[in-house]
Amino acid sequence: MSFETLGLAPALLRALAEQGYTAPTPIQAAAIPPALEGRDLLAGAQTGTGKTAAFSLPLLDRLYAGERKPAAPKAPRALVLTPTRELAAQVHESVRAYGKHLGVRATTIFGGVGMQPQVEALRRGVEILVATPGRLLDHIQQRSVNLSHIEVLILDEADRMLDMGFLPSIKRILGHLPKQNRVTWLFSATFAPEIKALAAEFMREPVEIQI
Ligand code: AMP
Repeated sequence: MSFETLGLAPALLRALAEQGYTAPTPIQAAAIPPALEGRDLLAGAQTGTGKTAAFSLPLLDRLYAGERKPAAPKAPRALVLTPTRELAAQVHESVRAYGKHLGVRATTIFGGVGMQPQVEALRRGVEILVATPGRLLDHIQQRSVNLSHIEVLILDEADRMLDMGFLPSIKRILGHLPKQNRVTWLFSATFAPEIKALAAEFMREPVEIQI
């Protein structure tokens, strides 16, 4: 199995070669093809399995290499929700590294730092938003972010987000996203009933992957 056979764009293959990646990990081999087809994903994967690339690569392919759908100027087209600022920063770094030949515009939003630099970054315009749920809700409330053009929603480490009490915040955020023309990719190490319920409510016939 190679990254070429998964159907990723040449600009992504080049970045992967530069990273020194020679072959996809099992979660990448299982998740990337259905993700590129536009299916929803319910993926069971621990940290360290390569799960970040498993969602970042098809995300970048969809946003930058495929046919571009018209979007409102500057409004983000993809949202990645993570439980912590550290994970948000890691995801942002991965997106930047894999997307280095694609002109990616991404920003990170998390609590514990000032709102204003984040407001300004949003105002300048981003396509990929990586955020923790609490701070994202603050931005929604003060209308500094517009989520009505999100095409791809990724829930990273969904079980940790629920353990941290973010379920009500996640549900409120979901209420601000488009229901149509959206794909949802949920990654979680474990699948408690609450996660299954969330998937049943907000996802469309997800492909289930367990590594
Ligand atoms: P993650 O599970 O996303 O936290 O990734 C764990 C580590 O594996 C990260 O340091 C990645 O850079 C690395 N990694 C991800 N995919 C691959 C791959 N296909 N080949 C080699 N290293 C990888």
